[in-house]
Amino acid sequence: MKHLSRREAAQIIENMEGNILITSHKNPDGDAIGSCLGWLNFLRKLKNNVKVILHDQVPYFFDFLPNVNKIGNNHNINEQFDWVIILDVSEVKRTGFECIPAKHSLIIDHHITANPDSNFSIIEPKIASTCELSLEIMKLIGENLIDYTVALPLYTGIVTDTGSFGYNSTTPKTLKNAAFLLERDINPYTVIKNLFERNRITRIELLKKVLDTLDFGLNKKVAHITLYKRFLSETGAGIEESEGFITYPRSIEGVEVAVFFKEFEEDRWKVSLRSKGKLNVAKIASLFGGGGHIMAAGFEYINGGNLEDLKRELFDIILKFSNQ
Ligand code: AMP
Ligand code: MN
Ligand code: MN
Repeated sequence: MKHLSRREAAQIIENMEGNILITSHKNPDGDAIGSCLGWLNFLRKLKNNVKVILHDQVPYFFDFLPNVNKIGNNHNINEQFDWVIILDVSEVKRTGFECIPAKHSLIIDHHITANPDSNFSIIEPKIASTCELSLEIMKLIGENLIDYTVALPLYTGIVTDTGSFGYNSTTPKTLKNAAFLLERDINPYTVIKNLFERNRITRIELLKKVLDTLDFGLNKKVAHITLYKRFLSETGAGIEESEGFITYPRSIEGVEVAVFFKEFEEDRWKVSLRSKGKLNVAKIASLFGGGGHIMAAGFEYINGGNLEDLKRELFDIILKFSNQ
């Protein structure tokens, strides 16, 4: 496995031959979808045979992105590829695919806990999003290829992963890169309106039920919410409609860590963690086999016990970390 500089990554991409697959992590977020579509729309100008396949469905609020309908959804990859470009994730198991049949692989990621399984990788934990890192690499290949169809998805991923330029992962360079993208005719409100201002009623119904579970731990330093699987059938919402709910427990004064427990099967939980800076939630998540960033991380709890066991284990660990 070789770690690449931006220039080396650009060169490898320019020289890629044959059929190319682009993919990203399960439950794709704005950065995953934005970087897949950014690269798809960029590479289609240079190569004949480029495809995006994701394991999970793209949430409806990304349907304004150019060529979003070209993203294939499949639980397996049945075709043999010459190259796979894996974005916003470093571990193949987190793509959701058992294996990805490709002769060569390149990972482009920004997770601090990255543990890449590929021939080549470029991982920059200091950069706010895979979309921003992708833009830096694309500029080295050809600025003229970065048109509206490339800029819009990249801008979208930068907005979502920086909390609309609010998290401290946002650097002066992030804003310069965003300005570069806006110069390609992007209207920032198009992105905000599509992402945040067309909630379906089902999402609000789901939010009502989830907020009803709000509870606290560790002297109100931890706030947590829970999505039970039955809430989905009761409201008609998809699980992806719960994206962003964690901002509510995080927003409470005095709360240091917000936790969102999502039941995807009986006694199988997807856990999201958010910190306000005092605790490193990437470290906490990695103790459960997950990972992420210092202030946003996650893990899956699948071989353990029930929700009460999970809470006990997690709060014990948070307590240990907060006493350090
Ligand atoms: P989420 O809570 O799903 O929005 O994820 C927050 C951050 O943690 C994202 O950057 C994810 O890529 C990362 N993350 C979530 N779950 C996992 C996991 N099981 N393993 C590694 N990273 C994860
Ligand atoms: Mn992501
Ligand atoms: Mn990301």
